[in-house]
Amino acid sequence: MGSKTHFQKKHLIDLGLQVSMRHSTSFCSHYLEGRGPQILTIMDITGVHDISVVWCRCADAESHAEQLLACGFFPATVSKPRTAFTFWTLKFFQMLNHVARTTPWDFTGTIRRLSDNIDPTAISVCDSFLIIWKRKRI
Ligand SMILES: [Zn+2]
Repeated sequence: MGSKTHFQKKHLIDLGLQVSMRHSTSFCSHYLEGRGPQILTIMDITGVHDISVVWCRCADAESHAEQLLACGFFPATVSKPRTAFTFWTLKFFQMLNHVARTTPWDFTGTIRRLSDNIDPTAISVCDSFLIIWKRKRI
């Protein structure tokens, strides 16, 4: 976001971004029947972002984890996910790991610095990535 003298960092959620799950052209008409939109932390190759997610709450709606998978996000947990990774992030890391032997620690360290180069340790979502990666390797 720009001011007259310099760019200012703004989070997607502060810009009003809301991502609708399952309904591609509008929000679910039942979305206010729960807690309304929820904040989800997304890890992407561009960094870590908080977004507002509008879950589908129709009678035949899938679980939140299944809704995330259908929209291209891999949930960090199956039950009540609050963190997810874009499929592209997982694919990108898989290629880096295979071709350049990039470790998950180096990859998450880079993502942390892309998100916050002043205090990269404040980005905790990367810890979830490491846990998922360790489980995948077992
Ligand atoms: Zn719905």
